Amino acid sequence: MHNNKPGDFSPYASVFSSRRTALGAIASGLLLPASCVFAKAAHHAPVAWPHALQVPGGVAHLALGPAATRPVVRTAEGDLPVLVLGDASGWTAVLGIPLAAVPGEASVNISPAEGGEARKLAYTIAPKKYREQRLKVAPGKVDLSAEDEARYERERLHLQTVMATFSEPLPSHLKMRAPVSGRRSGSFGLRRVFNGQARNPHSGMDIAAPTGTPIVAPLAGKVIDTGDYFFNGNTVWLDHGGGLLSMVCHLSRIDVAVGDVLPVGKRLGAVGATGRVTGPHLHWSISLNRAMVDPALFIPA
Ligand code: ZN
Repeated sequence: MHNNKPGDFSPYASVFSSRRTALGAIASGLLLPASCVFAKAAHHAPVAWPHALQVPGGVAHLALGPAATRPVVRTAEGDLPVLVLGDASGWTAVLGIPLAAVPGEASVNISPAEGGEARKLAYTIAPKKYREQRLKVAPGKVDLSAEDEARYERERLHLQTVMATFSEPLPSHLKMRAPVSGRRSGSFGLRRVFNGQARNPHSGMDIAAPTGTPIVAPLAGKVIDTGDYFFNGNTVWLDHGGGLLSMVCHLSRIDVAVGDVLPVGKRLGAVGATGRVTGPHLHWSISLNRAMVDPALFIPA
């Protein structure tokens, strides 16, 4: 059992919801360096960013070898389209690995664009033990009212469709800048346990900054959703192309509208404390092939 299904977009959702199931599969294992276990080694132009880290919540670079046209790659689980970068001399699939992925052998499906037989490409997901946070709260604090639960469910279904976005053109590169400067929490993947019950892991990066601090686009992108959501507060989703999306939450103000195309560094809003938060900060999530992956892999340290 796991509880980080694609579309489980809220960094806080399950903290307050009694319906979430227990976190199981990723609870054990040691932190290992990214391994490069491919079914077949191939010459390829390496993709410099994001950093490759083949763990739950990380990103795999899968070398596909040379081909005249871009191969079509889909996840074995869920049949989701995967971002492929490179050129005829060598293609690389840049694959987001869900936090709930089970460590071990995994694979993607590759169809040559020019026709021919589809094949499986195997890769290995190394285990990673994320930190755990145990909290005791009043029992009533973790349950939503029926009204709030209904609102959350409506928002969840809406945002599943947002997360399914896969558009072209593909991004020319994947090196991002932090959307605000400030102290980064390093709490991606943090396993939260409330009153002994495991909840969703933290699926983004928190950056401390005062209310009103400008937030900028971490990479060029198109605004595909804005709204005021129950847990996430004022939120902007940016589509960077190829199934790579950014979500920024808890904004005090939103300065863009759906359809706006932003260059990297363009202001999109300001830091705030909207939604379910204890103080002003920016929550930033990155979704790649509908997997929430660690934003730290996309920015310089
Ligand atoms: Zn957060």
